[in-house]
Amino acid sequence: MLNALEFFKNLPDKKCSKCGNTIQEQADCYGNLCEECDDPAR
Ligand SMILES: [Zn+2]
Repeated sequence: MLNALEFFKNLPDKKCSKCGNTIQEQADCYGNLCEECDDPAR
């Protein structure tokens, strides 16, 4: 049985659909935007 770390290492990098930056957080509620693009101040 693979442990959780192995599982997450095998996941593909999530990329921002706007700027293409790699999203490191597991924040599904933010959709496919990175922190910068999701900033409401911009
Ligand atoms: Zn972005």
